[in-house]
Amino acid sequence: MGIPEPPLRLTDGSRVGVVGGGPAGSLFSHFLLAMANRAGMDIRVDLYEPRDFSIPGNSGCNKCGGIIYESLVQSLATDGIILPPAVVQHGIAGFTFHTDEGIVRIKPPSDERRIASVRRGAGPCGAAVGLSASFDGHLLALAEAKGARIVRDRVTGVAMTGGRPRITTKSGLSEEYDLLVGALGVNSAELSLFEGCGTGYKPPATSRAYITEILLGSEAIEKCLGDAMHVFLLDIPRLKFAAIIPKGEYATVCLLGRDIGQEMVDAFFRHPEVLACFPAGWTPAGVRCRCFPSIILGEALGAVGDRFVMIGDCYVSRLYKDGIGNAYRTAKAAAQTAFLEGISKRDFDRYYRPICDAVARDNRYGRIVFAITSLIKKMPFLRHGVVRMTHAEQAGLGTLRMRTVLWDTFTGNATFGNIFRRAIHPFFLARLLSETVKGWTNSSDK
Ligand SMILES: Cc1cc2nc3c(=O)[nH]c(=O)nc-3n(C[C@H](O)[C@H](O)[C@H](O)COP(=O)(O)OP(=O)(O)OC[C@H]3O[C@@H](n4cnc5c(N)ncnc54)[C@H](O)[C@@H]3O)c2cc1C
Repeated sequence: MGIPEPPLRLTDGSRVGVVGGGPAGSLFSHFLLAMANRAGMDIRVDLYEPRDFSIPGNSGCNKCGGIIYESLVQSLATDGIILPPAVVQHGIAGFTFHTDEGIVRIKPPSDERRIASVRRGAGPCGAAVGLSASFDGHLLALAEAKGARIVRDRVTGVAMTGGRPRITTKSGLSEEYDLLVGALGVNSAELSLFEGCGTGYKPPATSRAYITEILLGSEAIEKCLGDAMHVFLLDIPRLKFAAIIPKGEYATVCLLGRDIGQEMVDAFFRHPEVLACFPAGWTPAGVRCRCFPSIILGEALGAVGDRFVMIGDCYVSRLYKDGIGNAYRTAKAAAQTAFLEGISKRDFDRYYRPICDAVARDNRYGRIVFAITSLIKKMPFLRHGVVRMTHAEQAGLGTLRMRTVLWDTFTGNATFGNIFRRAIHPFFLARLLSETVKGWTNSSDK
């Protein structure tokens, strides 16, 4: 009988290499070191991140809308992570939905459902340095304060040699670790390196999104956008939805959908509903800060193995929403598994993967929810029904069914499964049908 293999665990003096210092990598390092410090255990974490989040523009930014939810702010606070006021750019008081059929304004259904906007870098291209505190910079500093060594270098190689992970970098560093953590998002050319780690890793499917930062000045922001996040459900082919988010003196514009290109961006900025959100005579011609980042659409394969785990976007995320909240949850779950249970494939399969599998399963409902949204965008009578039903609810007529469904679809508070079940509830469908028929009858009477 062979001698049983000793369990794979982190012990005093273990070394952990984390590739990527976005929210997932920084929070993983923070949680792991917090647990080790509490237990009096010496675990050394090297966190590899080439970006400098204090430099405005593309090179110091992790390109994203930067919307976070009150539930995440509260979860972070429970973990002892308080976001300073300088990091939170704008409190968002509600949504304004723009459709080809008109506008609907909705307030958060409750206080726990409030949202805020943050910056993922130091600010847009051309902005004065230090314009704003960066969310990612803040989390990276927290990981460093817990004891992580920040290695300002790009990882150019990962390999399993003799069953142990090795990381090599652009500047020629080469280090062996007890545990390798991939947290490099989906916008990294080096993601494919992890395919050689022996677990059959395949990165998640992605699509091209669009982000731009537009300097309007605080007065124009207040006048044109107010404290609302503006969500556009317009009938533009392949555009799932678009959002304009007020952030200090700037407006962040995000377009999410399938393979967004310049043509779609131009069509969006020509739309009268969009132009109505900008000062009279404004055109996008002079906009300097813009990019086409990848957005995750599916989940990775082979994302865990012995001494190997992927977290955040490079494993799985929620479809078109709450990527930062997902980075937080996967980072925490992976750190708890590594510290409390072990670092073998079996441990990650048993204690960490179920959390990621649940996100992937819920995204199936997400695809149905967004397919229904696309259908509504294409059908004027249905659009009209949605707008009428929301207006009626806001006027105090009936339960806030549509308002909460709309709110939850575009925020991170509810699962897609929960939204789907509410949207097929007979009361919801009956009300929508009734408002659609009333709208249709009224318009044919005119
Ligand atoms: C258009 C758009 C809008 C979005 N809006 C929102 C939103 O409003 N709210 C929200 O919650 N989410 C939003 N997201 C999703 C969100 O950006 C991601 O889910 C989140 O950033 C994932 O965090 P992460 O840490 O996994 O990856 P990332 O944030 O991508 O971080 C990865 C890190 O790895 C580093 N890295 C990459 N390669 C290497 C390497 N070779 N060596 C070392 N380091 C490396 C990068 O520099 C980066 O810092 C949006 C995404 C897009 C595309």
